Amino acid sequence: MTPKELELLRSLDGRLRKVVEYAKQFYNFTVIETYRSHERQEELYKQGRSKARAGQSPHNRFPSFAFDAVPFPCDWNDIPSFARLNGIIEASAFACGVPIKLGADFKSIKDMPHYELLEDKKNG
Ligand SMILES: [Zn+2]
Repeated sequence: MTPKELELLRSLDGRLRKVVEYAKQFYNFTVIETYRSHERQEELYKQGRSKARAGQSPHNRFPSFAFDAVPFPCDWNDIPSFARLNGIIEASAFACGVPIKLGADFKSIKDMPHYELLEDKKNG
C-alpha cells in the first residue's frame, strides 16, 4: 500500500477497513477515496459527479462510511476488472460480517468504484 492509501484508510470506518484488508489478499486494487469534506462534496455535486450535497453522502462522515476503490493497474474502460473487484469486495464483506451496499447496484448513477456501509439509520 502506498503512504497515500494508508492515510486514506485511517479516515475509514474500522469495519470497512477490515473488508479492504481482507479483500487485498485476493485482488490487486487501490482505495482512491474515503472521507470527503463538505467543500469537496459540494464541488462534486456542482460538477454533476455526485447526486449528494454536502453532508448527504456516507463519504462525509468521519471516519468515512464509504470508500471508492479501483483495480490496479486501473483502466477505466476495463469494466470486467471493476466487476471482478465488486465480487471480491462483496464476498470479503460477507466473510467479515460487514453489511455493505455496492455503488454498482445503485438505481440512479451506477458507481462501480463505490462501496458503503449498510448502516442502521438510527445511528445516522
Ligand atoms: Zn464513493
